[in-house]
Amino acid sequence: MSEQKPHAVLIPYPVQGHINPLIKLAKLLHLRGFHITFVNTEYNHKRLLKSRGLNAFDGFTGFRFETILDGLPPTEGDGDGDVSQDIHALCKSIRKNFLQPFRELLIRLQESSKAGLVRQVTSIVTDCSMSFPVEVAEEFDLPVVFFSPANACTFFAGVHLPTLFNKGLIPLKDESYLTNGYLDTIVECIPGLHNFRLKDLPDFVRITDPNNAMIEFIIEAAGRAHRASAIILNTSDELESGVMNALSSTFSCIYAIGPLSSLLNQSPQNNLASLSTNLWKEDTKCLDWLESKEPGSVVYVNFGSMTVMTVEKLLEFAWGLANSKQPFLWIIRPDLVIGGSVVLSSEFVNEISDRGLIAGWCPQEQVLNHPSIGGFLTHCGWNSTTESICAGVPMLCWPFFADQPANCRYICDTYEIGIEIDNNVKREEVEKLVNELMVGEKGKKMRRKTLEMKKKAVEDTKPGGRSYMNLEKVINEVLLKQN
Ligand code: UDP
Repeated sequence: MSEQKPHAVLIPYPVQGHINPLIKLAKLLHLRGFHITFVNTEYNHKRLLKSRGLNAFDGFTGFRFETILDGLPPTEGDGDGDVSQDIHALCKSIRKNFLQPFRELLIRLQESSKAGLVRQVTSIVTDCSMSFPVEVAEEFDLPVVFFSPANACTFFAGVHLPTLFNKGLIPLKDESYLTNGYLDTIVECIPGLHNFRLKDLPDFVRITDPNNAMIEFIIEAAGRAHRASAIILNTSDELESGVMNALSSTFSCIYAIGPLSSLLNQSPQNNLASLSTNLWKEDTKCLDWLESKEPGSVVYVNFGSMTVMTVEKLLEFAWGLANSKQPFLWIIRPDLVIGGSVVLSSEFVNEISDRGLIAGWCPQEQVLNHPSIGGFLTHCGWNSTTESICAGVPMLCWPFFADQPANCRYICDTYEIGIEIDNNVKREEVEKLVNELMVGEKGKKMRRKTLEMKKKAVEDTKPGGRSYMNLEKVINEVLLKQN
């Protein structure tokens, strides 16, 4: 066994924003000599094959994919449509249906290893929302590392959900508490978060019913995190020093290893660089279009993989962007608008002429790093946030749900590299803030700050940097530890 490569099995929570960072981690482990088995749901893997091509995942030596069923009933055009799944149903199904197939996969892999067909599995790395692999790791006596693709604040808020209940801060008494100012209450019971209001926390705290599937899911995962051999997060001590310090007193083996974009960008490249896990088909023509634009002149607009909005809100964004007169690249996912596809009027299309380009999905990191991009109108997903920082691009923020309010708070108040757009978006505000971001004084200041943050991210993730060393430590002291 000693001359054998280590073999890590990695399993993401099965949505885009969790698959992408875990695949980055898998690539980093592969570069350090690990054999990788990456476990997708069958539903997502079908979508990947559809968007990337049937052979897209063949031929990566030492990097293989396995699938397990997600246990959800087939939806119309299953695996065929560009749709995100129902998150509540997914969480319920993960708790009910994933443990046994995962256990069977491990049994199969260990049996295949005896026959010399694959390397013996030596560790498991699981998304911290997918906590069930801890049971399998204990049965097989394997180290298990929990990976949080979100930031430390979100992870810690999950751990502190019971505290919020005990202090009587949640559940909300009724729906009126969402709008009556109650969410402005300062949360003092989560160490490391200074002056955070309830509304700045991930939106899973905005509940009126404690018997909520998502809450049960998060509490179960947070409890199991105490059984992990180590916990690693896609953040850095620089980005979240307060929360990371507080977390270290709760968990003995917890490390910030991010931003992963920067860590991977600074690693030697191999043929895995071309391995992409976009569930939607990328439109790469937008990169050619960006070539025709002036440096720093284009607003990039993308609301990620799960945000949805009404057609009215979409039109406010559309006319705000058009009226700003700034060039923009806007990614409108096929399922972005609630209740149907988008039809933008010919008046709008004429108005934007070659100043605006609309596409359905793009290679975001390549776009953000294109010299023509000067600002990012984002929903504040943590991947989008860190990818924007790593590209040195300041932001306009329109958080939608999940951890996005917390990320927005960091971007606008803590880091001062973004401006928030009101949830009830209006075209005049979009026009004004787009101009502020692209050509205003505040925009210039934010750009300078973002570039400073980019520099710090590079420092943290280059050999010898804190995040880089943290990853080395987890690899050497946990993943490669002999039982
Ligand atoms: N992404 C992409 N192209 C797009 C939209 C998104 O490649 O057109 C990627 C993006 O780079 C990021 C992920 O999808 O890695 C979205 O994750 P994020 O946490 O920002 O938001 P979520 O989709 O989870 O809301």
